[in-house]
Amino acid sequence: MDAIEAAQVLSEIGYLLRQDPKERFRAKAFSAAAWSLALQRPNLVDLQRAENLTSIEGVGEGIARVLTDVIQTGQSRYLNRLREQFKQPARDDESDLDLGDYQGDVHSHTDWSDGRATMLEMARGAQALGYRYLGITDHSPRITVVHGLNAERLVAQSREMAEVQSQVDGLTLLQGIEVDILEDGSLDLPDAVLEILDIVIASPHVKLRQEPAAMTERMMRAVSHPHVDVIGHPTGRRPGSREGASYDYELVFKEAAKRGVALEIDCDPARMDLSPEMARLAFEFGCSFAIDADAHAPAEFAYVPMALWMARRAGIPRDRILNFRPLDQLTMTR
Ligand SMILES: [Zn+2]
Ligand SMILES: [Zn+2]
Repeated sequence: MDAIEAAQVLSEIGYLLRQDPKERFRAKAFSAAAWSLALQRPNLVDLQRAENLTSIEGVGEGIARVLTDVIQTGQSRYLNRLREQFKQPARDDESDLDLGDYQGDVHSHTDWSDGRATMLEMARGAQALGYRYLGITDHSPRITVVHGLNAERLVAQSREMAEVQSQVDGLTLLQGIEVDILEDGSLDLPDAVLEILDIVIASPHVKLRQEPAAMTERMMRAVSHPHVDVIGHPTGRRPGSREGASYDYELVFKEAAKRGVALEIDCDPARMDLSPEMARLAFEFGCSFAIDADAHAPAEFAYVPMALWMARRAGIPRDRILNFRPLDQLTMTR
């Protein structure tokens, strides 16, 4: 049992607890502890032997007990209980995904919009993890509070990208955008701009409570757009605080499958969107997936290792996941 496996257990516990509004704070504590494990990767066996698990940031007595169980038995009885309680039993068809084969993340932010790090810091963070590529996908103009990027600023950003690219070896930066899906399903930047970008993630951010027929039309228009590569956090849900958009998932997911548009599994613990259940559904409809951290700082790249269990629980094999493909096959999804 290494730190990453343990982080995945804590992350799943946090995820399940979030289904119950009363457990909101405990859910956060488990997610935070998972993150701290994924970041620091301490030697758990040694710490447990020294009865010193609480020296890990974010790990109190309660979480230490859960960790002890995991370290000693390779299992968590607490997690198993929660799976039963929330009617999400362990499945025997969970896929076998090896994090070591993860090639890169296609959804990240920098201080060009609402990220908290520079492009160079993000690139170095990805490089340190051995990523082969990183998609820089800041927000589009509609998200004014975060200073979203219009065509002019994208051009300026591309100059910085060339500069940063010359400073990092082995990592290819992809210039992209997280473009807002507007209420009518059109996108927040002109086609001529989207066309020249390496990667276009179209995401719903506002007006998620549209009535289902209108929301279905909106999402259908977005997945049908010729320049869209990925639908970001496809429901916009916030487990424990906000329900996601409701639309005809079958119709939209089938269209995405047909057009080779990937659906995202956004690993940010505040999102976890698609959920494993929804991802399973999308998988059965033939969809491909992008598993991303949606990182706003280099430390948040750790969201992927801690939440890889979501794709496993959904039973998604690696050939359906963009991030396991080498760069030269990344663009061949269409
Ligand atoms: Zn987003
Ligand atoms: Zn994002």
